[in-house]
Amino acid sequence: MNPFPLTRGQTEALTRNHPTPFHLYDEAAIRANARRLIKAFSVLPDFREYFAVKATPNPFILKILAAEGCGADCSSLAELRLCEAVGLRGDRVMFTSNETPDAEFRAARELGAIINLDDVTHIDALVAATGSLPETLCFRYNPGPLKAGNAIIGHPEEAKYGLTRDQLFDGYAKARDLGAKKFGLHTMVVSNELDEQYHVETARMLFELVVEIHRRLGLRISFINTGGGIGIPYRPEQKAVDYDVVARGARKLYDEIVVPAGLDPLAYNMECGRAITGPHGWLVTRALRRKETYRSYIGVDASMANLMRPGMYGAYHHVTVLGKENAPATKTYDVVGSLCENCDKFAIQRALPEIALGDLLVIHDTGAHGHAMGYNYNGKTRSAELLLRPDGSVLQIRRAETLDDLFATLDLGAVANFK
Ligand SMILES: *Cc1c(COP(=O)(O)O)cnc(C)c1O
Repeated sequence: MNPFPLTRGQTEALTRNHPTPFHLYDEAAIRANARRLIKAFSVLPDFREYFAVKATPNPFILKILAAEGCGADCSSLAELRLCEAVGLRGDRVMFTSNETPDAEFRAARELGAIINLDDVTHIDALVAATGSLPETLCFRYNPGPLKAGNAIIGHPEEAKYGLTRDQLFDGYAKARDLGAKKFGLHTMVVSNELDEQYHVETARMLFELVVEIHRRLGLRISFINTGGGIGIPYRPEQKAVDYDVVARGARKLYDEIVVPAGLDPLAYNMECGRAITGPHGWLVTRALRRKETYRSYIGVDASMANLMRPGMYGAYHHVTVLGKENAPATKTYDVVGSLCENCDKFAIQRALPEIALGDLLVIHDTGAHGHAMGYNYNGKTRSAELLLRPDGSVLQIRRAETLDDLFATLDLGAVANFK
């Protein structure tokens, strides 16, 4: 569990210019984490981490990660545009989309991104949309019932993503016949997985497939991408994934499977989002109301508009009351937002210190899939994003939405004249 990097006093001071709620990200910690991951996986050939933009789609974060050597993994037009804005292009961008509109295939080609196709029919769709097949092409593999998924991602055979095994062989053969020269193999079979062996087994599955593709088609895969899915310890009793254990485990299998088949070097890529930024972001909110009915409720000024994971997945996020870090947890609360949705709860029946109205609460591990998943139900606006810089200063990297933003798509003048 990463402690919140500011004291209660510093945070109170910050709220004078930046009212709660807001997300705060720790730049130094994000940089150090990216470096640690890249260093661990550098035991594999030509390792590259493509940060999954959807996890924290803020160009300041992308620029920080690009400076640390990361590429970016995109799945939409907006995410491609963010890459463009920070100068990420060419093979530093991976485009892993599904049900892809033609315009997005065109935008990805214009950026020179590596296109990762989600279906065998997308070969023709890509040619139809862009006029040609790119020289480099990647396919997303869905192993189906061969491999068990985990709770968030479900079972691969029920997942809409990727090609079946047979389609994969057909896809490579067809792409080669149409002139593609360089090939990648991608999969993503787990999400938020803390067990290192799952990640090593994903690498094994892809290594074996690379060998089989070569044997059956005489076609050489240049790179694999094991997807994202490295988990983070949301609960205090959980342990962070040891990058070295995954990397060394994958390296051992590489030496056993890829090297003897004469297929070395095979570049190794990942596209983690959560593991990179997740533990280094916090949602800061203030206790506004207390209510005693069948349970004790603390109402805060954040809601599911700012963080969906607890309501959507029943996900646990640790909660700290600033200034009461060492106080005994003598109360049991539901910590709730103000949406007309009973799932708008950040914590359910959680043991916490006694909370006074006005206390600042920190919700931990919101650096990935936090602000990004927010929505505007009940007309709630999404919060600002702040960046704690390595020199201790705080930079606003996204302002909070206003009601004007919310109503920007409405023509209130036209309503006045509407009968
Ligand atoms: C969401 C996603 C990721 C990132 O997942 P994390 O759990 O944030 O690591 C990577 N690749 C694909 C294709 C995804 O859909």
